[in-house]
Amino acid sequence: MSEFTYLRKLFQAYYQEKQFEFPKVSSFNLREFGLIPWEKKVFMKRHMSFDNSDDLRSYLIMKAPRHLYSSGSLYLKPDAQYMNNKEYQGCDFIVDIDVDHFYTPCKDQHDLWICKDCGDEGTGMPETCSNKKCGGSKFTKISWVCDQCLDVAKNEITKLISNFLIPDFGIDEKKLRIAFSGHRGYHLKIESEDIRKLNSEERREIVDYITGKNLNFEILGLNEKFNNIYGLLAENIGWSQKIMKKIIQILNRPESEIKNMLLDDNLFGFNSNVVTSFLKYKNDFLEVITKGERNVWAIEGFRLTNWKKFLKGIVKLVGVEIDEPVSIDIHRLIRYPGSLHGKTGFKVQEIELNELDDFNPLDESNEKLDPIVFKSKKNLTQKLEIVENKLPVTKIKGESFGPYKKGDKIEVPHHIAVFLLCKEVAKTI
Ligand SMILES: [Zn+2]
Ligand SMILES: [Zn+2]
Repeated sequence: MSEFTYLRKLFQAYYQEKQFEFPKVSSFNLREFGLIPWEKKVFMKRHMSFDNSDDLRSYLIMKAPRHLYSSGSLYLKPDAQYMNNKEYQGCDFIVDIDVDHFYTPCKDQHDLWICKDCGDEGTGMPETCSNKKCGGSKFTKISWVCDQCLDVAKNEITKLISNFLIPDFGIDEKKLRIAFSGHRGYHLKIESEDIRKLNSEERREIVDYITGKNLNFEILGLNEKFNNIYGLLAENIGWSQKIMKKIIQILNRPESEIKNMLLDDNLFGFNSNVVTSFLKYKNDFLEVITKGERNVWAIEGFRLTNWKKFLKGIVKLVGVEIDEPVSIDIHRLIRYPGSLHGKTGFKVQEIELNELDDFNPLDESNEKLDPIVFKSKKNLTQKLEIVENKLPVTKIKGESFGPYKKGDKIEVPHHIAVFLLCKEVAKTI
C-alpha cells in the first residue's frame, strides 16, 4: 500500500470516529469549501458547498482529503464556479500567523534548505543562496515544527488580540475564533457584521495598522527643534502609547539584554559604538520619558536618523507578524476547524481565548484540545525508512526523535510515523 493510501485510510478512520464531535462553522451553507486530495499533481478543488454538516461528514468519511478549507466569505451561491456569480455577502476578517513567513532564531537549527541552482545547503531562512557565486533564490526547504516557533506564533496572536483588536478596534472577544493551524501557526477569524462589510482597501488599512508598517514617526510627535530632539508622548493613544510602553519595558531590563537587542540585526542592528553611547545615557532617558516632562530625548550621537532606527526596532516588537495577503484578500479559504492537516497529521484545533495561554500544541495535556490525534494509547510503533537527505530533531509529546539521514531505518511511535509520512520524508518498510 502506498504511503498516501495508508494515510488516507487513517484520515478516514479519524473522520469516522470523530464525526459527531466535528465543529460546524457559522453560516455553514453560505461558505465555499475547498480541498486538496491525496493524489499527486491534483491542485486545490474549490467552489464546493454543503447544505448541512451531515453532508460534510459523509463526504469526509468517504473521501478524507489531505487538506480541507472553507471560505472567510459568505455567498448566496458558494458553489458557483465563477466568483462573479457567487453573490458575495461579506467576508470575515481572517488573520494567518505562520512562522513560515518570519524569522525565528531556532530556524537556524531546524529549517534546512538546498539551493535549486547550485545544490549548496544550509539552515535557517536565507533570501539568497549563501554560495556567493550562485546567489540563487530558489530552494528546496524542509521546515519543521518546533515548540519555540509555536510559542512565538502564539505570542503574536496574543499581542494581536490584547494590544490591538480589543483595545483599539473594540472587538468583542466572543466574535473571535482562534485555531491552531495544524502546522506552524495560528488562525484567527473575526465574525462580526460590521467587519464583514469592509472591502480589500479598508482591510489593507487595518493590516497596516496592526503591523505598524509605514508608520510616520513625525506624525507621532518625533521632531527636531533648536538642536533638541523631541520624542513621542505616552499620552497619545494608539501607536505612540504602545511604543512608549515598550521602550519603558525594555529599558527596565538588565543591561546585557538591552545590549544584545540593540546589536541584533533582526531588531535594531546598531553598531557597538552607538550601543555604548545608548547604554551610558539610558537611565537619564528613562527618567525623562517616565516623568513625561519636556520630553527631550538626549543621547549622544543620536540625531533623527538613529532615533528613527531605534523606533523602527521597537515597532518590530510591538507590531504583529501576520501574513498580509490573507487578511486583505476577500476570497481566501482557510483550514476548516477539526480537519486534519495533511502535511503533519495534526488536527486544526479551535481554542477559546481563555485557553490560549496554556495551550501547548505539541504536548497538550487536555485531550479535547490535543492536535496530536494519532497518538496511540497502546504505544504502537512503526518501522520506517528515511528518504530525505537530512532531517532535524522532531520533538512531539515531550519526546525527541532524530536527527536522521537518508537510508536510516527507524522504529518510532505511531504519531511520529504519521507525521514523517505526511511530511513525505519517510516511507513504510
Ligand atoms: Zn546556490
Ligand atoms: Zn523553531
